[in-house]
Formats: sequence, C-alpha cells, structure tokens
Amino acid sequence: MLVTFTMSDTSVIDGERLRMIAEDVVKCPICGEKSMSVKIFLYDMPYFGKVVLESGKCSRCGFKWSDVGLLETTRPKRIIVKVKGPKDLNALVIKAAPAIIKIPELGVEIFPGPAAPGYITTVEGVLQRVIDHAPSECLDESNPCYERIEVIRRAMDGNVTFTLIIEDPSGRSAVKGEGTEIIEEELSTAEE
Ligand SMILES: [Zn+2]
Repeated sequence: MLVTFTMSDTSVIDGERLRMIAEDVVKCPICGEKSMSVKIFLYDMPYFGKVVLESGKCSRCGFKWSDVGLLETTRPKRIIVKVKGPKDLNALVIKAAPAIIKIPELGVEIFPGPAAPGYITTVEGVLQRVIDHAPSECLDESNPCYERIEVIRRAMDGNVTFTLIIEDPSGRSAVKGEGTEIIEEELSTAEE
C-alpha cells in the first residue's frame, strides 16, 4: 500500500502548533465536479506567526492542490530578496498560490496558472522548482535554454548573486532569513 504524507500526519508530529479549522467539499478546478474535499489548518509557525495551510484532493479525478499563506493579509506586496551568498539560499519562503516569481539576473519569470499551488520552501528550493518545471528542451545541451539551467545550478551552490522577487496580489507571501537583506514594498494595482 502506498503511504502518502498528508497534512493530518503533521498534526500528530506537531500537535499544539497545528490545528484544523475548517473542512469542506468544493468544486474541483480540473474536472468541475463538486468532489474536492478541502481541509484548512492554522499553523503557528516559528519566525512567521500564524499561517494558513490548505490541502485539497478531488475524489473523482485525483487532482491534488495545496496552498499556504500568512493569516494576516496585507495589501498587494512585492518582496525583494538579495541573495549574495550560501546563507541567503537558506532563507525561508512562503509562496502563496497567486504570487509571481521573478529572478531578473537568471531570466526567470513564473506566472501561476489557475491551479498553481502555494508552498513553503527555501530560496534554494525555489531554484530547484524552477529547474524541475523547466521545459524538456532545456535538457538538450545544444539548446540555449540549457545554459540558463546551468546558471541556475551554479546559483544553487551560492556562487551567483541574484535577486528573488515575489509579487503577491494577495499579500500573503513572506520571506524570513537571518542576516538576509529582504525589502517589502507595496505593489500598486497598476503594476499587477
Ligand atoms: Zn476533479
């Protein structure tokens, strides 16, 4: 039998910090049936405070979705993270579902689709996701895209200075890192 990690397993590990606050069955964004069971958890997370975790699975088509974000929403915001060395790669990132990721120096711009998830990772984890989601032609050494992936790999070793920009119209994303230069500014609606 396949053992899958679910949010409720986390509550066993970290009982006091995590509790389920809502459960519902909603319409699935993929198959359109009202067969997607969603659970919403409140997580008291170190460094970030109260964080909302959402996890859903469709019993009809099997589509899985998850999202994460700060409980306290602010106005649309832009988070600018200056990555100058290996320690900055360990900064923690909460990326809410609607947030856009940009890394100008590495030519990265990721706009979320309607079923895109939110997640918690590190700056290094964001780079790994970029590589994991790169088009398959990027694996071909003769394709110009291959060189860009190599630059992202070097950045994962802490040898490239770059700027991670998260633009979040929901204002629920956040980044925390000890000693990392992080700037938060309001994202004006004209820019969205
Ligand atoms: Zn479905």
